[in-house]
Formats: sequence, structure tokens, C-alpha cells
Amino acid sequence: MSATETTRRPRGRQFFANPGPTNIPDSVLLAIAHHTVDFNDPGFIDVYRAGVAGLKRVLKTEQEVFLYTGSGHAAWEASLVNLLSPGDAVLILESGHFSQSWGRMASDLGLEVRNLAADWRRGVDIADLRAALAEDHGHAIKAVCVVHNETSTGMTIPVQEVRAAMDEAGHPALLLADTISSLGSIDFRMDEWGVDAAVGGSQKGLMLPTGLGFTGVSAKAMAAHPDAKLKRHYFDWTAMGKRPLRSFLGTVPTSIFYGLREALRLIEDEEGLENVFRRHARLGEAVRRCVRHWSGNDGPQLFCTNPGRFSDSVTAILMPDGQDADALRRVALERFNVSLGGGLGPLGNRVFRIGHLGDLNEPMVLGTLASVELAMKVSGVPHAAGGVDAAMAYLAEPAAA
Ligand code: PLP
Repeated sequence: MSATETTRRPRGRQFFANPGPTNIPDSVLLAIAHHTVDFNDPGFIDVYRAGVAGLKRVLKTEQEVFLYTGSGHAAWEASLVNLLSPGDAVLILESGHFSQSWGRMASDLGLEVRNLAADWRRGVDIADLRAALAEDHGHAIKAVCVVHNETSTGMTIPVQEVRAAMDEAGHPALLLADTISSLGSIDFRMDEWGVDAAVGGSQKGLMLPTGLGFTGVSAKAMAAHPDAKLKRHYFDWTAMGKRPLRSFLGTVPTSIFYGLREALRLIEDEEGLENVFRRHARLGEAVRRCVRHWSGNDGPQLFCTNPGRFSDSVTAILMPDGQDADALRRVALERFNVSLGGGLGPLGNRVFRIGHLGDLNEPMVLGTLASVELAMKVSGVPHAAGGVDAAMAYLAEPAAA
């Protein structure tokens, strides 16, 4: 951080409540501060292989994983170019900004994009998916793309129900799932749910810097891969498969693998993956209790109106009519040094987002909620005061322990 930035912001550690990138634990930061190593060094190869094995455990897969230097977009692109051919139809399950962006990418790559329309506050209706698949008598749809956790709207789409609908329809399309804001925060089971390509990134639940994208790939997808004719080079799984590390054409980003080793130790050994999910569920519910309370007095409300699909890693909050979410975020940042996520795409300044994923505990969440409530108070945003008390009341319940 430059001197100007530090002097402009209030003292104290910033509360970083964006839904990705997320806070990086100090021990992970220290682990990344590793001296440069040759990526062919046997010592590094051990660290690398252990990291890939750990990623597979978090993805809950025993199949292939390919890795790239790049953000989630890289893994999105890799999943499409390795599995599809120009003009192939893909069915995008609309959920929000990220399903739209993935669809735009597919269209730019020369695919025929079919959008399964949905209300962004409720997510796709599985009955509509069944109908769309049943209508596709000739099996023109080659892939169904679902964003497991839609970060723009704070909604989790049940991938297992998507799989079940495809199975019921006897539809042979590949199932591509974006796990970017769910992996390591919300349970995701690649093999059990029959996901053919699971798209992931390092900077959210895995508590790492941005820059490591990856795709879990099923045996069915690997069998489809040689027939895929979309142009590709850096992302080509065949070329990667010939490399000793079975990933990365070019230099391997070694530092992040030392961070990954430490992040996996924290997730698996220190806390336990299932406990990580429980912590996210608890903190997510605390945020929702708070927002529900604020919604009194015509205050802001939960954007997601489908309780079965509330996201445990991010909450999107809809401002009251006439109120500017960006102005509120500015007050939170400039006066209280709390960084919140903004509204994406058409949601613009009507929505702000609280990320509650990664390296996070109760005091951090309560501090963020208290600062948002304070920002609303000083900005004159209508709300029912006491949302933080509602969150604390929930966290004090024995069931939340
Ligand atoms: N998909 C989801 C669900 C996301 O939340 C994001 C980013 O926030 C992306 C895809 C794009 O990933 P990236 O920004 O790492 O390229």
C-alpha cells in the first residue's frame, strides 16, 4: 500500500468483506514468501503433487484436474475450448452476472448460447430445465453450464438437482459447473454429482491470491475432449497431459503452491473441510438475520428471495428505492475502512454485497455488520436499527455453536 493510500484511510486493519478476492491468512502469506525454486526441482514437484491431490479432495473428485496461471475466467475458457466445437449449443442456466458473463464468453468463442431464463432473485426453476432438455430431441445441447454459487446475487443453485434433471431426461450433454465462489466454502461434490467440468479459482474459499485457475475434468469429459474443435493453445488439455506436471504450458507459478500447501493444512488438518462448511453456514445465517432485521422501516433487504438457495459465502443486499449502494459503500470504506462488494451488471448501485467466505470469524462479520449499520445511520439510509443484535442473538443460540 502506498503512503497516500495509508494516510487516506482510517487507522486499523481494513475489514475486507468483498466476496472475492478474500482475506489471506497470515500463515498463507508467509508460506507464499518462499524463495524462487526451479519448477522441475524434485522438492517443488512434491509440493505441487500434494497441492493437486489436495485440490482433488476439496473438489471431491478422483478424476483429472488441469491448472492454469489465470483467474476464474481462464478456467471458464479452458472448460469451453477443451470440450466443444464451433456452433455447438450450450445451455446456460441464468443466475445473474456470472452466468451471463460465462454465456458471453461462450458466444464470443463461437458457440450457440441458449439461455434458460430465470428471475435473478430466485434462480432457475428445475422444471424449466427439465422442459428444455425434453424439447431437445436431437440432443443439440452439448453442455449445460451452471454457476454453483452466483456471486452477484448471493444464491446457490443445487447442482445435484441439475444432474438429476439431465439424468431423468436421458440427456447426454456434459455438465459444467462453476465452483469459483463455492469451493472450500459450500459443499461441492464433483464425482457424486456427476459434474463433468468443475471450474475453480484460488482467490475465494481457498484463501489464496488470485492467479491459479483450474478445472476438474471427468472421464466422460476427457473422452469428449479429442473431438472438441474450438481453437486453443495455452489451455489445451492434450498438450498439458504431455507435460511432466500434466498442467501449465510454460512457467509454473511456484509461490502459490507453497501457499496452497498451507491453505490445505488449515482447511483439512486444522479445521476440517466439513467444519469449514459449517462455519460458512453459521456466518452466512448471521449476516442474513442482520439484513432481515434491517429490512424493517423500509430498509435494505436480502436480494435473494429463495430461502432454499441462500448462499453461505456471499449475501447481496438490495437498497431501498432511491438509495445509492455505491454511496453507502464509499462511506463504509472512507470513514470506517470496511471494503464491501458492489452491485454487478444491471444490479449496479441498487445492490451491495457482503462476502462471508474464506479466512473469517464472528468478530470480523459482526464488525462489518456494525460498520454497515453505522454507515446507514450516518448516510440517512432507512433501516431498523439493531441488525447486529439479531446476528448476535443467532450466534448465541446453542444450535449455532
Ligand atoms: N464465476 C464466479 C461465480 C465468480 O464469482 C467470478 C468472480 O468473482 C468469476 C466467475 C470470474 O472469476 P475471475 O474474476 O477470477 O476471473
